[in-house]
Amino acid sequence: MKILALFHTQAGGGLPKAALEVLTAAAALKEQTGGTLAVGIIGQGAAEAADNVAGCGAASFLTVSAAAVAQPRYATDTAAAAALIKESGADLVMAPGTARFARCLPGAAHRAGAQIDTHIVSVKAEGEKVRAQRWFYRQRILVSFSRTDRPWIILADAGVNAPWQGAAGTANSREAAVNFSDTDLRTSVIGTRSPAADAQTIKPDVPLLFVAGAGWTKKQKDGQFHIAEAGVLIQDFLLKATASLGSSKSLVDLQSEGQETLSFMTHMNQVGQTGSTPRHAKGLSTCCHGEEPHAVGWRFINERRAVNLDPNCGWAQGKADVVYVGDAFEVMAKVNAMLS
Ligand SMILES: Cc1cc2nc3c(=O)[nH]c(=O)nc-3n(C[C@H](O)[C@H](O)[C@H](O)COP(=O)(O)OP(=O)(O)OC[C@H]3O[C@@H](n4cnc5c(N)ncnc54)[C@H](O)[C@@H]3O)c2cc1C
Repeated sequence: MKILALFHTQAGGGLPKAALEVLTAAAALKEQTGGTLAVGIIGQGAAEAADNVAGCGAASFLTVSAAAVAQPRYATDTAAAAALIKESGADLVMAPGTARFARCLPGAAHRAGAQIDTHIVSVKAEGEKVRAQRWFYRQRILVSFSRTDRPWIILADAGVNAPWQGAAGTANSREAAVNFSDTDLRTSVIGTRSPAADAQTIKPDVPLLFVAGAGWTKKQKDGQFHIAEAGVLIQDFLLKATASLGSSKSLVDLQSEGQETLSFMTHMNQVGQTGSTPRHAKGLSTCCHGEEPHAVGWRFINERRAVNLDPNCGWAQGKADVVYVGDAFEVMAKVNAMLS
């Protein structure tokens, strides 16, 4: 079986962590199938990136580093990826599910006559037969499946494999010739706009998820709302602990209902059945009841703790490892003081 590990470089050069994770899986698959591995890299600095993973056991390294692919662009990325898939003659293509690849690889699959599956969390081989796994129905059903169509492109989720570590060297990479048409070059990236670092509350790569629930916006024991104070406590903690911010649905819904709430919270933060299912080593839930439609989004949080006034809250019903029965305003103020 011919396996192609297909990557792109990131801004500033080098391979993203998600690519190194896929390399671990591709190298393991090569061993399991007794097949061959090729590495294909698109983007600026592709040859240097190939040298950095020279010790991965790949028999060949193909690159597309033309100026046309220096920046992500659907048309040129699709053309480059399709060219590498065809040139490698791969049966199986493994690639990270980055934003850049999620956008262009379905188009590349069409051009290369390939099948493609996204959000794959595991790939294993029994002889020539390759089985992939992905979650369905909001991470409730894990499905193992196989395909006989070739080439088969597999876009892997981040965080499910350890990043590849190994010796750099001389990859002797070969630049593939890709003919980019004028139409391919029609769109140009004139700049990027990103929020200030402290406005980015969703951080998939940090160890800790901090979840705020609607309790932060409820009347507290003095009969008053303390929403501004809640905002300060939460943001202070996020900064000090470098945590990613999650929310319950009730809290983010308040905004659309016109109620005063935490201004830095959006629907993007919502964790749960109709929100996200982030992956972090630890999670701390505060002022959130831990109802099933919320807690299902914690499926990939390994160690779970919660702070709630209610000793019978959902977290205490076997959904958390530790529940602190207490006032989150007081607890987080103390935690922040300890972190200072
Ligand atoms: C089809 C469907 C899909 C849904 N999808 C999602 C989803 O994706 N994500 C999601 O989150 N929900 C989802 N829900 C809603 C979910 O069922 C709950 O209604 C929601 O999670 C409740 O949010 P909450 O726990 O923040 O608020 P509440 O239920 O209002 O709980 C607030 C909690 O704060 C505690 N509290 C108050 N003050 C303090 C304090 N000072 N210190 C400590 N604790 C305090 C209270 O004891 C209480 O437990 C869905 C529901 C349905 C029907």
